[in-house]
Amino acid sequence: MNVTSLAHLQGETPSLHRDVVAGFAAIVGPENVLTGVADRYAYCRDRLPYGLFKLRANNLPGTLPSAILSPATAAEVKAIVDYARQNKLSLIPFGAGSGVLGGTIPLVNEIMVDLKRINRIVDLNTTDGTVTVQAGMNGMQFEQELERNGYTAGHLPQSIAMSTVGGWVACRGAGQASSRYGKIEDIVLGLKAVLPNGKLLEVRPVARRAVGPSIKDLLVGSEGVLGFITEVTLRVWRKPEHTSALVLAFGSLEAGFAALREVVQSELRPEVIRLYDIKESVQRTEGMPEFVERPILCIMKFSGKEALATVERELTLAICRQHDAVVCGNAPYEHWEQTRFHSYSTKWQSDGYYMDTIEVTGTWTHLPQMYEAMRDAAHAIHPDMHFGAHWSHIYPEGACQYMTVRLPPMPEDEAIRLHQLAWEKIENLCLELGGSVAHHHGAGLFRNPWIRKELNEGLNMLQILKDGLDPDNLINPGKLALRQPAGSNWQS
Ligand SMILES: Cc1cc2nc3c(=O)[nH]c(=O)nc-3n(C[C@H](O)[C@H](O)[C@H](O)COP(=O)(O)OP(=O)(O)OC[C@H]3O[C@@H](n4cnc5c(N)ncnc54)[C@H](O)[C@@H]3O)c2cc1C
Repeated sequence: MNVTSLAHLQGETPSLHRDVVAGFAAIVGPENVLTGVADRYAYCRDRLPYGLFKLRANNLPGTLPSAILSPATAAEVKAIVDYARQNKLSLIPFGAGSGVLGGTIPLVNEIMVDLKRINRIVDLNTTDGTVTVQAGMNGMQFEQELERNGYTAGHLPQSIAMSTVGGWVACRGAGQASSRYGKIEDIVLGLKAVLPNGKLLEVRPVARRAVGPSIKDLLVGSEGVLGFITEVTLRVWRKPEHTSALVLAFGSLEAGFAALREVVQSELRPEVIRLYDIKESVQRTEGMPEFVERPILCIMKFSGKEALATVERELTLAICRQHDAVVCGNAPYEHWEQTRFHSYSTKWQSDGYYMDTIEVTGTWTHLPQMYEAMRDAAHAIHPDMHFGAHWSHIYPEGACQYMTVRLPPMPEDEAIRLHQLAWEKIENLCLELGGSVAHHHGAGLFRNPWIRKELNEGLNMLQILKDGLDPDNLINPGKLALRQPAGSNWQS
């Protein structure tokens, strides 16, 4: 978007009244209230691909925010919420904006509350094996600090360098070592939050409790609609003393699925398991003779005490060999290790392609059918639509199917129509085949059309909770398929 169109936006979208700016400045300091149009433009979206498509065509995905506030403490967050309630102003919690479903996109000029200044490790308790950290801490800085102390949180998303710990919890995310350590909901023990009514919630970190439904889990995955998570306590593990890689070639995807199911159902827990479909395998194995007869790539990482990790590797390999896998050179593993935290999406976007990723959860019963039906649906939408998939979060009951879809350069309107159609087909097939429409990216705005079917009466329960805590619908309104704010034009 060029300077002329920014000037155009400035005319169209209101910033805050100066009394309100002064009110917020009294809380966070004037230097931590941004109202310039360029700043507001920088905060008008997250990494939702549809948002990028709109910007490429000089349109906003939603609106500009009316301001950006950067509090430094949980007390300042509470003061912001109290002031916003008194003045009926809408707020959006903002971590690092790496979400890919539109969770931080303003719909009615909401005020962004950027939490990145709330970013300290409060306590590393090596007796209990826990770390308490403020929600705005950058993921990579957090993990590196733990590693300097000989620990890991075991949550290593591809976006670790561009996301915050609070964002992980708010989106119910998954890291690349999830097959061993679990998703973030398995790692969070406790948290503190400022609720939409200004009250402070504390869920004390303990191993387990039996006092009604889990209040903690109301906040995990709440995507900002139930308030601001300001602090979390996570499990930590000793940094593994030993790691080893394993690269395998399978004769078919079915053989790979059968082997991985048996591995995890045998209580084996490699730190990393990644199985690639033919499209994604070929990209990673070109020129490797082992893959001519057995074209499906699987990479694994084993870690922990050396004796235990070695046995785990041997037992896993024995199962995979029963499914006719062969061991290959480590090159695909090393390439993955070197690039595991990179983001490639910008290359395709800037070359005029329309790229997106969709992750769903399937059961072992339905995964083969799910894969074939979704791949065929994508190709039926456009013969040149790229469709590739891998499975890298593996559970005894099933796995996450992570798909990349990409349309070639074409007129924007047509691309947006076909892109939407791809989402509709894939998410509807997922529901028909008994899966979950989202494994770890969350729901944001873009998944609104499928949340009712996914949650059924649960969505009404969430709306009742939201209305009780936030009767004026001020805190991240319209996300997670909850009631849209008055004046929103978002179509879903
Ligand atoms: C290239 C790329 C790779 C990715 N890889 C992964 C991956 O491997 N695993 C994965 O799980 N995700 C991945 N993601 C998605 C994204 O990084 C995650 O969803 C991440 O957890 C978002 O964190 P954030 O701090 O950037 O949150 P934001 O994008 O700022 O916010 C996301 C949502 O959470 C809410 N929120 C943020 N912080 C708080 C808080 N403190 N309190 C209350 N609400 C809050 C926001 O309001 C919004 O609804 C990837 C994204 C990209 C672009």
